[in-house]
Order: sequence, then C-alpha cells, then structure tokens
Amino acid sequence: MNNPYQNAMTQLEKAAKIAGLQNKIGPLKKPMRILKANLAVRMDDGKIKKFKAFRVQYNNFRGPFKGGIRYHAQVSLDEIKALSFWMTIKTATVGIPMGGGKGGVIIDPKKLSPMELEKLSRAYVRAFYKYLGPNLDVPAPDVNTNSQIMDWMSDEFNKLTKKNQPAFITGKSLEFDGSQGRDTATADGGFFVLKEFLKQLKISPKKITVVIQGFGNVGANMAEKLYQSGFKIIGVSDSQTAIIDPKKKGFNYNLIKEIKSHHGRIDVCVRHEAKYCKIVHNHLSPQKIVEQSCDLLVLAALENQITKDNVSRIKAKMILELANGPITPKADQTLWQKNITVIPDVLANAGGVTVSYFEWRQNMKKENWSRAQILKKLKPIMIKALKRIDKIAKKYKIDLRTAAFISALRQIIKK
Ligand code: NAD
Repeated sequence: MNNPYQNAMTQLEKAAKIAGLQNKIGPLKKPMRILKANLAVRMDDGKIKKFKAFRVQYNNFRGPFKGGIRYHAQVSLDEIKALSFWMTIKTATVGIPMGGGKGGVIIDPKKLSPMELEKLSRAYVRAFYKYLGPNLDVPAPDVNTNSQIMDWMSDEFNKLTKKNQPAFITGKSLEFDGSQGRDTATADGGFFVLKEFLKQLKISPKKITVVIQGFGNVGANMAEKLYQSGFKIIGVSDSQTAIIDPKKKGFNYNLIKEIKSHHGRIDVCVRHEAKYCKIVHNHLSPQKIVEQSCDLLVLAALENQITKDNVSRIKAKMILELANGPITPKADQTLWQKNITVIPDVLANAGGVTVSYFEWRQNMKKENWSRAQILKKLKPIMIKALKRIDKIAKKYKIDLRTAAFISALRQIIKK
C-alpha cells in the first residue's frame, strides 16, 4: 500500500540531501496543526449520519495556509497531510505568498442529494471556522468539490463571523465574488508550462500524441486546450471507462465532452448512437490507460497511479502531472532511469493555487480582474518557475521534481 505522506517525506529528504539542507527541514517534517471533526448531517430520510472530516494546516511560514477541500470515499488523514505538504511546496515553487493546507471529508458525494451536500458543506465550516479566515487559512475546491460548494461555505462563514469576508475561500462562483479564470486555471497553468517546455525542445504540438487520465475539471479543460492547439488526443479515461484511438489520428474533444456530459461516461459509442460513432475507438480498462504508448501522458485523476508495480510498462516519452502525487518515489526513480521526463505536480498544476491567490487578492482589495488580466499575470509566473527549476535540475543533474523541491525549500527556509 502506497502511503502518500511517506512518499511526500521521501521526496522532501531527497531534495534536502542534494541541496545540503537536511538540518533545516525539521519544521517541514510534520504539520503545524491537524483539525478533526465528525460532521453530523440530517439526511433526507430524517436520520442523522456522521462523516469524518479533516483540515490539515501544514505550514504558514510564507503566508496563510492555502489548499482545497476534497470529498472522496478514500480520503484519509495521511492523504490530506501529504496534499497539505505538497501545497506548501507548490506555493513556494511559484512564489506566491501563501503556505500549505488541505481539507477532506470521507464521503462519496455522488450518494448525497443536493440538500445533503449543502448541509455537509456548511457543517464542515461550522466545525473548523475558528481556525479559518482570509489571513489564517484559505480553503478552495479539490476533487468532487466545486464553486457551488465554495459558495455555501462562504455564506456559512459570513453568517458565523457576522461579516462579509469573501477572501475566506476561493473558487467561488462569479456571482459570489469568485474570479474570472479560476475554473480553467489549473489547466491554463499546466498548458503554459508544457508549451514553454516543448518550445525549448523545439517540438511542434502537431507531432505530439497525448493520453489523458481523468476527465474532470482539470483533465477535461486540459484536453480542450490541447485539442485546440493541434495536439492529437489518442486516449482518455475517467474513473469507470477508458477509450483509445487505434489509428492514432486523434479524438475530437467536443464529441467526447458531449458524450461525457450526456452519459456521465466517455465510451457510449458501443451503444451505436449514429452521431457518436464518428469516434472510432477501442475500449480499455481505466487502470490500463497510463500504460498506452504516446508522446505525452497527462495525469489528471488521483495519487499513486504510477507505482513500482506498473512503471516498467509505461511507454510515454514525457509525463505532465496535473493531479497531485500521481507517481510514487520508487516509480519516479525508474522513470528517471528510463529517460522519461516528468513535469511535476508542484509546478504543472500550480496554476490553480496561483489564480486562487489572485481571487483572494481581488477580494481583499475589492477589485475585479478580467480573464485576460488573469492569464497575463499567470503566464510569467508559470514560465519563470519552470526556468528556475530547469536551471537547478541542470546544475545538479536531477529530475524536475527534486529541483522544484530545492527551489521551494530555499524559499520556505529563508523566511
Ligand atoms: P474532479 O473531481 O473534477 O475530476 C477527477 C477526475 O478523475 C474524474 O474524471 C474522475 O472520473 C477521474 N478519476 C478518478 N479516479 C480515476 C482513476 N482511477 N482512473 C481514471 N480516472 C479517474 O477533480 P479535479 O479538480 O479535476 O482534480 C483532479 C486532480 O487534479 C486531483 O489530483 C486534484 O488534487 C488535482 N488538482 C486540482 C486542482 C483544481 O483546481 N481543481 C488544482 C490542482 C490540482
């Protein structure tokens, strides 16, 4: 069993050793605060059900704790600790003045009615609100949470504190002080990094075949950007289904999106609906999607997808980690030996937290920035971080993840 927190600590030790920072990473070996609660929710049938919830405040040396809230049946305290640690590294990697935190509830949200989901989200805020706030800890969405949930949480926080404080949480809807561009920010940031990376290698998008694991907020938005820029998407998966283009011509993103939104899955072509059968594909088990042959594998689902058990079967030439922690340290080592470049999560998906920070700033200053302004500010942050990390990687002859950690540790420890 891969423990994400142990994996995170292995990554930390490795980077600290290379940079000669072993004696200084003590404060980063454990979270500053762990909050736990049992959220009581009255269900639609009148019965009270309890759900385990966490908020981990890992480190605030560089600014308020910052990180999303995840609703998932497999949430564990170690997972949330790992994610909050990675947030600490990520905010420092891109140089925004925030720390790292993360929250989670053990729940399969698909089993809740909208009313139950709202009650659960409000109960989360009631349990932890004394420790949250614009200058303390600023949550955001993550897997299975969205702008509607952020709006409920924001409203609950305002009621409890008897003040309107939109900067308490980010990822809100535009109607309730959210930011332009937050919905696509993670994909936008990843795309800026990828394009710059390919530019340095003088590779044209038209030649690149892509396989994408995960078709949620991050995966689907990235698929759209790649498709529009001429990349060939030859494989896609969600948690239940996966499809692969046997001819490697590339799928039409718009059709896949339409299928997913109508059917909740991406492989309905088997049902022979004339329109959808324009997509010629083979079926695959979702676990196998990462093993397909391609130029670029985009990981946009969950952690621990490439491990020592399947790394020998990875055929991609390059991997972009939009999910958090999808590759274990052992697998990372093998990929490095196989000369497969990994653009790591703490850089590749940092566009999300960067635009969250923009939302926080707009709320604090009562400003509204346009989508064009957001993208104009985001792009140089992502590219600057890539260049800084690339330089460290070349200097020490190490992988980009370890280089990103070194860059971040220097920022965190300096403070
Ligand atoms: P989401 O809930 O919108 O989508 C997750 C997707 O992954 C869904 O399509 C789901 O079906 C799929 N999935 C789950 N398990 C899978 C499996 N075993 N195989 C294939 N697909 C699987 O979540 P999201 O917001 O898109 O987040 C995806 C990842 O990106 C997470 O690791 C999250 O922490 C990370 N991330 C998200 C943001 C953000 O802004 N939303 C920012 C940074 C990082």
